[in-house]
Amino acid sequence: MPFSAGRILKLSSVENVSVSMPEIAGEERLILGGGSNLVILNPIFEGVVIRPEIKTWLSKIQGTQVLLEIGAGHLWHEVVISTLKKGWYGLENLALIPGWVGAAPFQNIGAYGVEFKDFCESVVLYDFDESAVVELNSDQMKFGYRHSILKDNPGRFMVLSVRLLLSTIPKPIVDYGAVQEGIAAFNGSKDRPEDVAKAVMAIRRTKLPDPEVFPNVGSFFKNPVVGQEVADRVSKSHPQIPSYLETGGVKLAAGWMIDQLGLKGFSVGQFGVHKDQALVLTHAGNGDADDLRTLIRTIRVAVKDEFGVSLQIEPTLLGRL
Ligand SMILES: Cc1cc2nc3c(=O)[nH]c(=O)nc-3n(C[C@H](O)[C@H](O)[C@H](O)COP(=O)(O)OP(=O)(O)OC[C@H]3O[C@@H](n4cnc5c(N)ncnc54)[C@H](O)[C@@H]3O)c2cc1C
Repeated sequence: MPFSAGRILKLSSVENVSVSMPEIAGEERLILGGGSNLVILNPIFEGVVIRPEIKTWLSKIQGTQVLLEIGAGHLWHEVVISTLKKGWYGLENLALIPGWVGAAPFQNIGAYGVEFKDFCESVVLYDFDESAVVELNSDQMKFGYRHSILKDNPGRFMVLSVRLLLSTIPKPIVDYGAVQEGIAAFNGSKDRPEDVAKAVMAIRRTKLPDPEVFPNVGSFFKNPVVGQEVADRVSKSHPQIPSYLETGGVKLAAGWMIDQLGLKGFSVGQFGVHKDQALVLTHAGNGDADDLRTLIRTIRVAVKDEFGVSLQIEPTLLGRL
């Protein structure tokens, strides 16, 4: 959905940041990367939209370790492909995740058994509270499932660059059955990170609706992480529910719950639950934000009634729910 902003500020370098950020510190602001995880409920934003288009790329090789510092403005997928081509391994499972590098730490992007945090040494940020550029190491970033310190402190930090530690020694992670099957489908090797990336890309292209064709933000709801007692109660009434151990509890599959409720393909106005992917909501164009609100509410109430679990929204909302 298009939106208008008070003004747009493009940042191309860290020097630029130190000069221009104190000037706008008191203004309402939105940091915008690729916009792939943004849901616009109110098309008018009075504040300043900041686009950190920083394109630095520094690498240092020490033995088998590769330390990379990458500016926030690079496309995440291009970084994955470039590192693979150089024989710098680790990011292969995160191929084809849309968006810019600067947004990757925001929700600790993850897919197929790997998360951004697994390869993150530190993140360089602008701290609006302190009016200073700071560097936080991976622990200080408080990474968790689709979580980081940036989510705990809305609006406080802007990512300028990320420091990643990759390796010239391949250590592919192929725990997911779908990835193993994907590799087998083209007679690839589980030992080759390039084949893991190829399989991941093939799976994503088949399973996920292309946002260019069916506008969507990927997973709309987070998989709820619940305590063992709740997990036991839900699996007693619904023994088939997929669940995974996660730091702080048990992760339940939100898509499975929505699917069980028969909501695949359900729509309100121009918004609907994708017919094959229950976790993905799609927009057929020119929709009314109130219809999206109704769709979200309907899904959440139905899941709460049936499973006693609350669903949290994963993308950033611009405007009130
Ligand atoms: C088809 C599809 C598939 C997806 N699959 C996955 C997946 O497998 N795993 C996964 O984790 N995500 C997935 N996503 C979500 C999305 O790709 C990620 O959230 C991505 O990191 C968003 O990048 P972006 O640049 O588009 O962020 P934007 O949409 O521009 O912004 C998202 C949020 O990050 C903040 N932000 C952006 N840049 C910065 C910055 N430099 N500093 C501070 N805050 C910033 C914004 O303010 C906003 O709150 C998917 C999305 C789509 C559409």
